[in-house]
Amino acid sequence: MLDILIIGSGPAGLSAAIYGKRANLNVLVAEKEYLGTGQIAESGLVDNYLGIAEITGYELGEKFREHAEKLGVEFYEGEARQFEPQTDGWKVHFDNGTVLETKTVIYCAGAAHRHLDVPGETEYSGKGVSYCALCDGAFYKDKVTAVIGGGNTALDDALYLSEICKKVYLIHRRSEFRGSAKTLENIRKRDNIEVITDAQVASISGEQKVNGIILKDGQKIAVDGVFVAVGMIPQTKGVEGVVSLDESGYIAADETGKTSAAGLFAAGDVRTKKFRQVVTAVSDGANAAVAAAEYLSHFAK
Ligand code: NAP
Repeated sequence: MLDILIIGSGPAGLSAAIYGKRANLNVLVAEKEYLGTGQIAESGLVDNYLGIAEITGYELGEKFREHAEKLGVEFYEGEARQFEPQTDGWKVHFDNGTVLETKTVIYCAGAAHRHLDVPGETEYSGKGVSYCALCDGAFYKDKVTAVIGGGNTALDDALYLSEICKKVYLIHRRSEFRGSAKTLENIRKRDNIEVITDAQVASISGEQKVNGIILKDGQKIAVDGVFVAVGMIPQTKGVEGVVSLDESGYIAADETGKTSAAGLFAAGDVRTKKFRQVVTAVSDGANAAVAAAEYLSHFAK
């Protein structure tokens, strides 16, 4: 029986694994499919992680993974679908039929891209509609793109794309932006970014590929690509009904990761919190592993 089964191999999961290993616990990290270290693998330059002035998100994620591997952390590929409480821990059922038994769980499944849910979005996904400017931006050299959203991702994406594209529209449904004022200031200085506020996308048009967007006021804008950056959805499938969620659907858990279910801790972007950053995910993972170790020493050993 495992001491800690960690679900998710992003920064929170790997940090939890390192702390768990260093506490001499029997730890396993389950991941759906290894595509880099969580969301940061899709991030461009990271310049706000303490001690590393500049690094790409992908490289930083690889450093996290190497660190975990060096400490002997083991990985298991499978999607955790069901969490069954037991008197002495948890039975975790995977999509491939495997059932793993563990004394505690640290759930770090992160969050996924929210969709606009407008006509054309699904149809043109991968044919001009993208959710990752850093992954797909290079395909739009000297073309016209639109970024939808008003948070930090949308602002960062607009700035990034303005280096590649002929023109970038930044379209936000309100007049106030959620993202950083400093980034917005930089955006306003760019000649090739046009900011359109109080505007909602009604549909995305195209033939073989995207050729435009239509706003709810009827305005048509010709674009070659649409980058949807309207936030994330916490990945709580499997633990719904097992732990309490907050009003936005994130797992209600305090700083120690303690949830409403004994022995099941939550860490990283999937947890209720104000700032979802690499550094806060890493911190969450450490806190949750220490809390799990403490829980094990009191109740389960
Ligand atoms: P976010 O902060 O939740 O912003 C989502 C944006 O999308 C909001 O402006 C929201 O509008 C808009 N939106 C949501 N649903 C929409 C819909 N159906 N149609 C049109 N617009 C919609 O998400 P995020 O930008 O992905 O950021 C997630 C977290 O990561 C945040 O905490 C952010 O600070 C952090 N982050 C930080 C950095 C950085 O520090 N450089 C970079 C990226 C992300 P409203 O404002 O009207 O709600």
